[in-house]
Amino acid sequence: MPGFELFGEAERKEVLDVLDTGVLMRYGFDGMRNGHWKAKELEKELQNKLKVKHAQLTTSGTTALNVALAVLGVGSGDEVIMPTFTFVASFESIINAGATPVLVDIDDTLTLDPKAVEAAITKKTKVIMPVHMCGSMADLDALKALCDKHNIFLLEDACQAYAGTYKGKALGTIGDVGCYSFDYVKTITCGEGGALVTNKSDLAVNADHYSDHGHDHVGNDRGAEGHPFIGYNYRISELNAAVGLAQVKRTDEFISIQRKHKKILKEALSTVTDVSFRRIPDEEGDSATFLSFFMPTAELSNKVVKAFQEYGIDAYWNYFDNNWHYIRKWNHLKELKTLFPLSAEIKKGMQDLKNMEFKQSDDYISRNISCLIKLSWTEEEVHEKAKKMVEAIKSVL
Ligand SMILES: *Cc1c(COP(=O)(O)O)cnc(C)c1O
Repeated sequence: MPGFELFGEAERKEVLDVLDTGVLMRYGFDGMRNGHWKAKELEKELQNKLKVKHAQLTTSGTTALNVALAVLGVGSGDEVIMPTFTFVASFESIINAGATPVLVDIDDTLTLDPKAVEAAITKKTKVIMPVHMCGSMADLDALKALCDKHNIFLLEDACQAYAGTYKGKALGTIGDVGCYSFDYVKTITCGEGGALVTNKSDLAVNADHYSDHGHDHVGNDRGAEGHPFIGYNYRISELNAAVGLAQVKRTDEFISIQRKHKKILKEALSTVTDVSFRRIPDEEGDSATFLSFFMPTAELSNKVVKAFQEYGIDAYWNYFDNNWHYIRKWNHLKELKTLFPLSAEIKKGMQDLKNMEFKQSDDYISRNISCLIKLSWTEEEVHEKAKKMVEAIKSVL
């Protein structure tokens, strides 16, 4: 991660196709577009690459989540279980749906702890939303078993784990619906963009309509199309899709570079006894966008962060005090600061959040350091980085 590092000729060519015709919209204008359907082609590429029946592009990963929750029928009175460590988009999309986010501890996978999820299930729970953070996956077998047992939907937020797999299946394609982000800093980019995937045709049809104002896309006169239900506009533009079309074809190239780089760093850090690694339920399926490891104590991880600075190492995070990824700094959520009134159900459902403690999450997140794996490093640079990281960690032990 991220695909923008290797932006080049292929991306230029796809964008120029669109600029040559001037058809920037994904629907209609058949005569003018000279055979270019970038959004449709990208959807097909995603279906083939991820081995999934349906892919629906959207304007972002966040709007893909909005569409996903809508097609799962999530709304007023429903609860959606989400992790304490994620990106703010998780609760944004749940609140956008009019539903109540239920925040739950993570474990040493840095994703939802199935035991904590089970304890949080109520009659109102409609969806479990694992977030495959930092390139690797949640324990999907355990979460799926809970969904089956309690008749709940599984919605995978695979925004950070595009092209990762779990037991041979693409992350995002195992639940009822999965979502990806192709924003500027993700594994592949459209500039801005996202996608929803599903193997369920009824959900796919509704996603297609919902993301385009409810258009049923029947016939070839857009103005005369029907609107079976109220939708929204989450259409991606052809320009963004064109960039993504070039990038999606480079997926294997990107992933293999990441895996090669990560392996070198991980092997080096394995020699330090006080370093332990994030548990990955299926190591083979790791998309290798990050190397995430734990120090024995929060104090030591703080010292490592400082040492990394001193040793000139870049692109690593400890998320404990991060504004965007961890619950501790989400005061706007805890205080329900919105520009508009929220339903009584959400207010009631979330009234206790500001007083809740997440000791297990705090423990893992405070001891965690996640290092971004860059595509643009040379092999020499990776080895140099590995050496410096080991020296920096050893300097604080
Ligand atoms: C990036 C991201 C999103 C949202 O994607 P955007 O395309 O930026 O809206 C959602 N969830 C996670 C985990 C992300 O990392």
